[in-house]
Amino acid sequence: MPAEIFGEAYQFLPKAEILTFEEIARLSRLFVELGVNKLRITGGEPLLRVDLPDLVQQLAEIPGADDITLTTNAYLLAQQAQPLKDAGLHRITVSLDSLDDEVFKQMNGRGFGTRRVLDGIRRAADCGLAPIKINAVVQKGVNDHTIVELARHFKGTEHIVRFIEYMDVGNRNGWKLDEVVSAAEIVAMIDAELPIEPAEANYVGEVARRWRYRDGEGEIGVIASVTQPFCVDCTRARLSTDGRLYTCLFASDGVDLRGPMRMAPMTTNCVG
Ligand code: SF4
Repeated sequence: MPAEIFGEAYQFLPKAEILTFEEIARLSRLFVELGVNKLRITGGEPLLRVDLPDLVQQLAEIPGADDITLTTNAYLLAQQAQPLKDAGLHRITVSLDSLDDEVFKQMNGRGFGTRRVLDGIRRAADCGLAPIKINAVVQKGVNDHTIVELARHFKGTEHIVRFIEYMDVGNRNGWKLDEVVSAAEIVAMIDAELPIEPAEANYVGEVARRWRYRDGEGEIGVIASVTQPFCVDCTRARLSTDGRLYTCLFASDGVDLRGPMRMAPMTTNCVG
């Protein structure tokens, strides 16, 4: 049962509305007591917080939080990888939609190329954060002509590229069905150049279908978020920066936890 931390717009909120790291850790501790075992720090871009290792350390100290992960665009990863690893981060996922600089810039909308991302991945691996998951959203006519190159680049490494069907995220991406490249098409495109075969899931409810290279040189994942949606098995919840709990990553309405928490003092184990 994973939970996700940080909302989309934390950098624009007044400071008083943002959960402190101590508050995030306090809520996370309660979630873990209720059965959550995976904590993922997302964004926006979480590495914009230079003190992020402090949060990771607080999360890592929670008994039962046995998988602490981070999703990042990796722009700032090279300099933060070691402090994050030292603080107790277990794994990272990097968003990298293409190795083609122009395509990548167009998709990330921030104008930075792939070099810093690849440097960040290398540095993170050197720090012991491997294997790294690399998420690539596949959009027809935008980056679908570059997915084999991306697979080839990481084939033979321990990193796992996960190709994701382009999905509707509300009114944020102008989604159209005819821009979706289906999981079946993605698999066929890669299989034609780099033969693959299905592999067993690592655990029940794994959202990425695993495919391994027939020559034994690693694997990829394919996430059929549109053609085979997995909402029925979903156990995700998102805690936004301002302390609202959403039971779907794309929900527009959440439950305020910040208000009640700030009215409730921390309990202590006082004796006598
Ligand atoms: S319920 Fe929401 S978060 Fe879960 S898989 Fe469906 S769309 Fe994603």
